[in-house]
Amino acid sequence: MDEFEEFDDFRDRQSTIGEDGNRVWVYPKKPKGKLYNYRKLTSFALLVILFAIPFIKVHGDPLLLFNVLERKFIIFGVMFYPQDFHLFVLSMIAFIVFVVLFTVIFGRIFCGWICPQTVFMEFLYRPIEYWIEGNHNQQRKLDQSVLGFNKFWRKGLKHFLFFLISFITAHFFLAYITGIEHVKELITDGPSTHIGGFVALIVFSVVHYFVFAKLREQVCIIICPYGRLQGVLLDRNSIVISYDYKRGEPRGKYNPLENREANAKGDCVECGSCQAVCPTGIDIRNGTQLECINCTACIDACDLVMQRVHKPEGLIRYASERSIADKTKLKFNIRILFYSVVLAGLLILIAFLFSIRTEIESTILRQKGTMFQEYDSLHYSNIYMIQVINKTRGTLPVELLLDEPAGEIKLIGDPLTVKEGTVGEAQFLLLIKKTDLKSSNTKVEFKVMSNGKEMDEIKSTFVGPNSLDK
Ligand code: SF4
Ligand code: SF4
Repeated sequence: MDEFEEFDDFRDRQSTIGEDGNRVWVYPKKPKGKLYNYRKLTSFALLVILFAIPFIKVHGDPLLLFNVLERKFIIFGVMFYPQDFHLFVLSMIAFIVFVVLFTVIFGRIFCGWICPQTVFMEFLYRPIEYWIEGNHNQQRKLDQSVLGFNKFWRKGLKHFLFFLISFITAHFFLAYITGIEHVKELITDGPSTHIGGFVALIVFSVVHYFVFAKLREQVCIIICPYGRLQGVLLDRNSIVISYDYKRGEPRGKYNPLENREANAKGDCVECGSCQAVCPTGIDIRNGTQLECINCTACIDACDLVMQRVHKPEGLIRYASERSIADKTKLKFNIRILFYSVVLAGLLILIAFLFSIRTEIESTILRQKGTMFQEYDSLHYSNIYMIQVINKTRGTLPVELLLDEPAGEIKLIGDPLTVKEGTVGEAQFLLLIKKTDLKSSNTKVEFKVMSNGKEMDEIKSTFVGPNSLDK
């Protein structure tokens, strides 16, 4: 048996599945400590931002909108249409590379501090549970007790509040899709006039309630694809929540009269506090595990214990496996610097992709299968098709100017006007004097104008008779 074999049985089971195959409900002890307070502040700020964003308007439109139904997207006040799909795909690729690199260096920091699942569970739903059902021991007892008045009102009130929060949150989620005005209409008009929206609200609410009342840590362990990828994203240099086994082992119960150094004992006093606070029910002393969401609760718990037994804090801390094994401090080394530069580069790339996005996209092509025509005794003409995608928030009257050479544009049909988010097309003739043409293929340059403002510049060609080349 090697030195850790006696603690190895955790590899054979999943922390939330019992011997009989049934779910083991996790009753985590309420964490307290420095990091927990920082996380509380962060979560509060994130929740305020999440619930405030639907009310923020830029030029009369929401700051963020993901209307998949009408294929209309607004990101930080900038409207995106299906025609911008290439931007979306490139940004997504850059974002995925960003997430992968970030995780390779900083582990699952996102899960513990920013992920909505953690923020809602640990700082909204769980505090309500502690408030109504008491601490982790009282919750366990309540669940084991037979149904009586006490259990009935506590469970009833808790689930009522859980569903109420889910119902309110569902309104805000819907506001991110259809806009806050639509949600206000839904509330004031009642369900009968907005059946689709009402059904969406109920589905959102039920799913949200089910996730936080029942599924909980199973989302992180089983469902979340980011969590499942940890096994391939993390390496020995990744910064994760780690137990310093070099310092902590061999572990042994605390006895204030014992000289632990003399008895070759490590600093872990086997109090179980780190496991008691863990929302996924694992023991971080077994090493980095898929279930660990890097919530830092075990760091706070262990630091408190270390204070009590007069040992330095940090037996559990942010560290890489290598720094623990080599007993070195975590340093900002070349590798982290290199990855950080790449991360910054990716962010700049995403910002650049968005900044080069134009308000309109236009193309001018000579009409397929047509050649030049002798318009009159002085001019040759070519027929063209112009296509304009309007990505602005208003209707655009489009005007076409010929930059060079000299010539005349004759629009076929009505003046071109393109509505917001649509594609407009028109045909036109370009007339050039016979005496101005020097070859059968002449470069021409158009300016696409709207309300006197130049929106785009397009190059094309004008064909004339081959005799001009002789
Ligand atoms: S092991 Fe620690 S950091 Fe990981 S989920 Fe449990 S309490 Fe949070
Ligand atoms: S809280 Fe610290 S001392 Fe207590 S069991 Fe966990 S690692 Fe050991």
